[in-house]
Amino acid sequence: MKIAVFSAKPYDKEFLDQADRGRRHELVFFETHLNAATVRLANGFDAVCVFVNDDLSREVILGLSKNGVKLIALRCAGFNNVDLSQAKASGIVVARVPAYAPHGVAEHAVGLILALNRKICRAYNRVRDGNFSIDGLLGFELYGKTVGVMGTGKIGAIFAGIMKGFGCRILAYDVHVNPECEALGVRYVSTEEIFKQCDIISLHLPLNKQTYHIINDDALLKMKTGVMLINTSRGGLVDSACLVEGLKSGKIGYLGLDVYEEEESMFFEDLSGQAIYDDTFVRIETFPNVIITGHQAFFTDAALRNIAQTTLYNIEGFEKGGVDPVNLVASH
Ligand code: NAD
Repeated sequence: MKIAVFSAKPYDKEFLDQADRGRRHELVFFETHLNAATVRLANGFDAVCVFVNDDLSREVILGLSKNGVKLIALRCAGFNNVDLSQAKASGIVVARVPAYAPHGVAEHAVGLILALNRKICRAYNRVRDGNFSIDGLLGFELYGKTVGVMGTGKIGAIFAGIMKGFGCRILAYDVHVNPECEALGVRYVSTEEIFKQCDIISLHLPLNKQTYHIINDDALLKMKTGVMLINTSRGGLVDSACLVEGLKSGKIGYLGLDVYEEEESMFFEDLSGQAIYDDTFVRIETFPNVIITGHQAFFTDAALRNIAQTTLYNIEGFEKGGVDPVNLVASH
């Protein structure tokens, strides 16, 4: 098949080429995102292969359909950026990679917690500068703290298990109870109880209509003063405007983000020589109790291998007449 790979980085090319060893497909790599301005690049391709910040809105899908594209192969689990009803209406199949790095993402969330709590970035910079003072680096013990896990699917369940290992008490919120978590002693409660009781809250929900801005002014009001908030899931779960006020007032004691609501125009690009135009983002970054990483939680060798292999498996399934239902998001 002829596949246009959008938002392609050198590592995408390396792992996809490796997975397509027999060179069965014609993979053409485009660095640019897929959006209304670039959709014409897909002309003559059977499939597009896209990532988290590609735009698959109604307009773009109509463009893909006009260009003869029949398959959208997502290199990720989340599909909040795809207008599924338009894909169906246009007869375009949508496939994804549902679980490529659950351990990697959960471990990254824990990494943010440890770095924030023990102020590892600040300590690193001090020692590099010959400043061995530990004043201002006071941390707390995770042992005995209450951790709220919002979303106990694949990633949330692994995260809960790791935090359990630190001796934390785990509360969870999800529309489905995960028996694995119950076996760990995780207690399912309402969002209200999560907000009220937890010292650390980590988000592992998908972004959808129900979860959009689940963390907002109202939610913050209900949280403990000094709460640690971790988001490695999707930026839209958190109303970024409320973060600045939350940090200024001290309501949020620690903030760890791997995703950001308006990340599309920034993340995955080297903008070190340019101005950053998102004032909220820039303001959030000024707080010493914030660590932001640029959507790298998934970024492990195992995940890239898994993403590439599953993407080609989806493409080949489509070719043979049907994508594996486990990976199918929308069919015509
Ligand atoms: P999953 O589908 O296994 O788990 C999601 C959980 O959320 C499920 O248990 C589901 O019941 C629950 N849920 C869904 N809608 C809900 C709602 N409205 N209210 C309460 N619970 C709800 O997903 P996963 O593999 O654990 O991934 C979670 C998210 O992590 C993904 O959706 C993706 O956005 C994000 N992610 C981020 C990265 C990264 O690099 N930062 C990498 C992979 C995934």
